[in-house]
Parts: sequence; structure tokens; C-alpha cells
Amino acid sequence: MYNVAVVTDDKCIAKKGCRLCIMYCPEPDCVMLNSEKMVAEVIIHRCKGCELCVVVCDAAKHNAIEMLAVGGDGKILDTVGEAAELGQAYQ
Ligand code: SF4
Ligand code: SF4
Repeated sequence: MYNVAVVTDDKCIAKKGCRLCIMYCPEPDCVMLNSEKMVAEVIIHRCKGCELCVVVCDAAKHNAIEMLAVGGDGKILDTVGEAAELGQAYQ
């Protein structure tokens, strides 16, 4: 399991011209502008989980990116569900 960046579309202000995460991500072709939805979009199989995009988005007070866990099948896990499972293990 590893973490990748995921953009919350409703919070992303790319339509107003923000491109911070796209500019700062060190991985080529990893954060792209989705020109249909006009939001930033992380190509999760390219994300290395460095969190730089989270830092720059949070620093600009947009708070539109979070790190979520990815399972072995390459799908993003429901972290709330994972936490609940962990909690259950201690019951
Ligand atoms: S830095 Fe945040 S608000 Fe700006 S484009 Fe990226 S996700 Fe959207
Ligand atoms: S976590 Fe790092 S590699 Fe992944 S999208 Fe953000 S800046 Fe790029």
C-alpha cells in the first residue's frame, strides 16, 4: 500500500487560473489540467506520493488535495473504511 495525491474537484480553483500543483509536481505528466472539468487531476499511476502538491495547494489556502492510500490492485482505498477495519482489529 502507498499514498497518492487526489484532488477534490469542488475545492480546486483551476478554473480561476491556479496551476500551482501542476507547476510544482516534480514528476512529468503527473498532475494535469482536466480541460473539460477545469480542475487539476492527478494521474495516480505516475504519482510518487511526495506531497509537494498538497503543500503548495494548502499554502495557497485552497486545501484541495489530499493523500489517499492505494491498494495492491492500483485502486484508491476508502481510508475511512481502512481506519474502521484497523479499529475493529483492536476490539
Ligand atoms: S494547487 Fe490546488 S487549487 Fe490550485 S490547481 Fe492545484 S488542486 Fe487546484
Ligand atoms: S504527491 Fe508529489 S508526485 Fe504525487 S502529484 Fe503530488 S507533487 Fe506530484
